[in-house]
Amino acid sequence: TNVLYNMVRLSLWLIPVIAAVALLGGYVITKRSFLPIEAIDRAAREISASRDLTKRIPTVSQGEDKKGRDEIQNLAKTFNRMFDRLEDAFNAEKQFTSDASHELRTPLSVIKANCEYALKFAQSEEDFKEALQSINRQSDRASALLSQLLFFARLDQKQGEHSFDMIDLSAAVKSGCDDRRLLLPPSIVLEEEISPEISAPADESLILRLLNNLIDNAVKYIGDGDRVTVTLNQSDEEISLTVSDNGLGISPENMDKIWNRFYMADRSRCETCENSFGLGLSMVKEIARIHGGRMEASSVPGEGSRFTFVLPKNF
Ligand code: ADP
Repeated sequence: TNVLYNMVRLSLWLIPVIAAVALLGGYVITKRSFLPIEAIDRAAREISASRDLTKRIPTVSQGEDKKGRDEIQNLAKTFNRMFDRLEDAFNAEKQFTSDASHELRTPLSVIKANCEYALKFAQSEEDFKEALQSINRQSDRASALLSQLLFFARLDQKQGEHSFDMIDLSAAVKSGCDDRRLLLPPSIVLEEEISPEISAPADESLILRLLNNLIDNAVKYIGDGDRVTVTLNQSDEEISLTVSDNGLGISPENMDKIWNRFYMADRSRCETCENSFGLGLSMVKEIARIHGGRMEASSVPGEGSRFTFVLPKNF
């Protein structure tokens, strides 16, 4: 009984001590394991408060962290990748706004200069006419740019819409080619090879815009007697809409850049580009993306180019 009594006495003060140690240990371990999450939280707050998108959450390089915190490290890396994308998107937007302002400033300055010249120095009807003609050309250019910028803004609004109604693509592409043919000079041949009865969920006006932009480009870089061919096909997996030409082609070093907004490979190669801004292909790429598809391009300088809108059939 003496032994039993001692054991009970011992356990009476030992149990609270063990419980206290366990609690403290638990607290320390929990606190330690939350530390990296707190670091992520702090870094994310700092980034959003300072609006400095170049900041990143500190991560441990591989092999350094042996304490089984891989999931938390992965979380930090995922956040950092998200910040990379946000920073890229933000910089692209900034660049776009600055390029657009620059492009708009040019025609506006020419308009202003012509007005001042006409008011101060123009004497004959001929002088006024010349100034007005230049003003007219430049306002056409400014309004062409504004309508393309508005189109981009509307495309951004469509970003969230992922369900389009089914349309008859064969009929849409056919009528797009017929309408476009009416506007072409007779020296340019626009051919079509359209497989019948191809349908897909799509926005018809956007598809026609994509088609027109590609035909416009082809027409700009071909010569008299050259031809532009529009092809619409489908396989079990995908639908493809191709516009090919046998014009000047694009050099390999320009191939990646042609999709960038405001990029024009070589303005001097094109005689009919006075109202071009290098926005057409980036619009085409955006329209393809909104439909869940992609653009492919290939070209041989001196032989021609080929642009294909590929729409996977997983709708
Ligand atoms: P834009 O047509 O307004 O110049 P785009 O974005 O449509 O702008 O095209 C970007 C550049 O890609 C053009 O400046 C041109 O150099 C090149 N390009 C596009 N399509 C063709 C084509 N079919 N043949 C040759 N070059 C092309």
